[in-house]
Formats: sequence, structure tokens, C-alpha cells
Amino acid sequence: MIELESAVQQILAAIPTAASERVPLEHACGRVLRERLVATLDLPTFDNSAMDGYAVRAADVAEATLSSPVSLRLSGRVPAGESFDSEVSSGQCVRIFTGSPLPPGADAVVMQEDTHPDAADPTKVLILDAVKPGENVRQGGADVRRGSVLAESGQVITIGSLSLLAATGVTQVSVGRLPRVGLLATGSELREAGQSLRPGQIYESNRLMLAELVRRAGGLPQVCPLVPDSAEATRRALESGLTDNDIVVTSGGVSVGEMDFVKSEFEKVGGTLHFWKVAIRPGKPFVFGRWRDKFMFGLPGNPVSAFVTFLQLAYPALRRWQGATETALPAQAATLGEPLTNPGERRHFMRVRMDSNGKVFSGGAQASHALSSLAAANGLVNVPPRTTLAAGTTVAVIRWS
Ligand code: AMP
Ligand code: MG
Repeated sequence: MIELESAVQQILAAIPTAASERVPLEHACGRVLRERLVATLDLPTFDNSAMDGYAVRAADVAEATLSSPVSLRLSGRVPAGESFDSEVSSGQCVRIFTGSPLPPGADAVVMQEDTHPDAADPTKVLILDAVKPGENVRQGGADVRRGSVLAESGQVITIGSLSLLAATGVTQVSVGRLPRVGLLATGSELREAGQSLRPGQIYESNRLMLAELVRRAGGLPQVCPLVPDSAEATRRALESGLTDNDIVVTSGGVSVGEMDFVKSEFEKVGGTLHFWKVAIRPGKPFVFGRWRDKFMFGLPGNPVSAFVTFLQLAYPALRRWQGATETALPAQAATLGEPLTNPGERRHFMRVRMDSNGKVFSGGAQASHALSSLAAANGLVNVPPRTTLAAGTTVAVIRWS
């Protein structure tokens, strides 16, 4: 049995970074960037107005007040999307709108609310307040400088970065290929949804859950047929799963019983097992192995054990495969609203529910087959062996969505 840290280290060391591909920006969100992107434009791209109003020379209106307005000659109009090329000279102003380029000569914008039409002369505008140079002007390059790094290789592209990249004219990016992940569920007791159950049979529930977790990790889940507990069926399923996919995730059949065929059949088809059993609860019987350039994650069959071992051990691997620098799940600091106790010898990833005030409560019964508490949970808390974390303790809540 090995410690979780060592297991994760061994897995990350074994997993290569797979090939990259170019995709249009509209398909890039959530993907792992595989190139450094450098700005080819300044943002803002040019000095422009932050307001609807009038572009002025600040010095002209330095004395303007409501009771003693300054009158300026209106020398033009520059709607957004157009440019005004002639110089704004002293005593002049130009009608301007949010996003319009600042005309040459002007150095500030008076907002419309601080102006008034000059009743005596329609070609003039009364300025009712002073502005400083640069006021209401968005300076070109103040947000992003041409030549600066927009995003680094290994970063996951967020919705925010899509906006940044689009604004700088990026149309395609190089990203990590998405791993195809075959999902095998072993167990002669398992039945497909919609089938009737005979005594001793249960509905298979791991593949659907794992498919969603695979998607969260950026993978493409492929649900494979159910695998009954026989050496022959397990061997055939492993062979075709490994042939058709980059990674295979199995559930069940990795324990010590004589009906557990995953480890032995994986070796028979030519796979190499890296380790078996990790010191966590739930999920001790976990196996990781390599077959040619493919990988197998053998998860325990108990649904919560499969859930936890996938998150702790397979999720980082799928991220690394795509080239991500950051492979751990996000964790959020929060406060326990009730004590959590782990009397056992292995660390326990307990199912918890964090409320909108950041208070954390147990999700319910913590047995590794108990699904109602998994359904209620929105996080996991790592409770060390033989430990009670008192109410009020700050904990890191591991999140998966
Ligand atoms: P195993 O790891 O094969 O010994 O299975 C442990 C427990 O998990 C047994 O109670 C199985 O019936 C149950 N189990 C295994 N695989 C699944 C599955 N895919 N869906 C639901 N329960 C499962
Ligand atoms: Mg089984």
C-alpha cells in the first residue's frame, strides 16, 4: 500500500504530454493551451473615450464651472468605429461617444452630463465642469501592451481568456488533444438501465458518473459494454478498450477476491502494473498500469470509492495528458459547521456539503457504497487518520464542479 502523494507522483511521472492540435477560438474554452500567446495589438488598441461627451483640450476648460461655463466651438463628430483626423485646436471640441478614438489635439473628454448646448449659438457647446488631462480617456496599451504574454502554455483557457484572446485578434490556438477514455464496468451482478433485475442484480451506476467526471477533466468518455466477472470477458474488454482509447478506466474487480480479474488479465494482455492499493478511504484497492502507450486506472467498484479515486488519481492524469501545468482539483477554504471524525488508519475523504455562507456539513452516511450522501455532497474534505476536526476548523473543500 502506498501513500496518496506517492501514487499521484508516480502517475504524473508516467503520463506523457500528448500531441496538440489547432482549434478555432470558439472551441477553445476549457482546453489546455499548448503555446505561449503574445499580444500582437495594444489593448485598448487606441486612445478612446470612456464616455459619451465632448473631446476637449483640458487646458481650455480648466476654469469651467456650472456658474461660469466655458463655451467651445463644435468642430466635428466622431461616432464609434470612425476616426477624426483633423486636429482639435484650442477653443474647439468634438462630439464623441464611448469607444470613439480620441481626436488628435484633444487630451480629455467632458461627459455629456457636464455640458449644455449653447442657446445663443448652435455651433457652440457650454462646458460646465473642468477635466484633467487624460480624464475619461482610456489610454491605448494601458490594459495590454503589444508583445506582452497573454497566456502561457499549460494554462486552461477560461471564459475570460477567450474574451482577451478574441480582443487581440487571435482566431486559432494550439491546445492539448482530448484523451479518449474508455469506461469499463466489471461485475456479473450489473445490469443496464431499463433491464429488469433478478435477485442479486443491481443497476450499473459508475459509468455514467465517471463519464461526467471524465468530461470535467477534459476527456472524451466512451462507455463500453458491461463486463461479467470472468477472465475471458475481462481480457477481451481490456484489449478492445485499450486498443480503441488513450486511457481505460475500469471499475470493480481490483480487490482480493477470486472473482477480481482486472489486475491479472491486464498483465496477461501485456500490461505493466505500477502499483496497487493506495492508503485512502474510500478507495484502497486502486490500480494503475501501462499498456504500450496507453494507461489503465483500475478503480474499486463501490461507487463512492470509484468517485474519490477518480478525482484523486485519474483526474490529475487526464489533465497532465493534455499538458496542464496545474493538475490538482480546485480547493476552497471553508469552516466546519459540525465536527468530522475519522477513527480509521487511512485518511478519509469525507463527503461534505458547503452552503452559500462557506459553512461545511457532512453529506451524511460515509460508507463507500452510500450514494445518498454523495448526491448531497458538493465537496470532499481530507480528514487525517485518527482525527476529529472540531466545528469551526478551517478546512480545504475539494471541489469537482
Ligand atoms: P468490487 O470492487 O467489484 O468488489 O465491487 C464492490 C461493490 O461495488 C459491490 O457491491 C459491487 O456490486 C458494487 N459495484 C461494482 N461495480 C459497480 C457499478 N459499476 N455500479 C454499481 N455498483 C457497482
Ligand atoms: Mg465486482
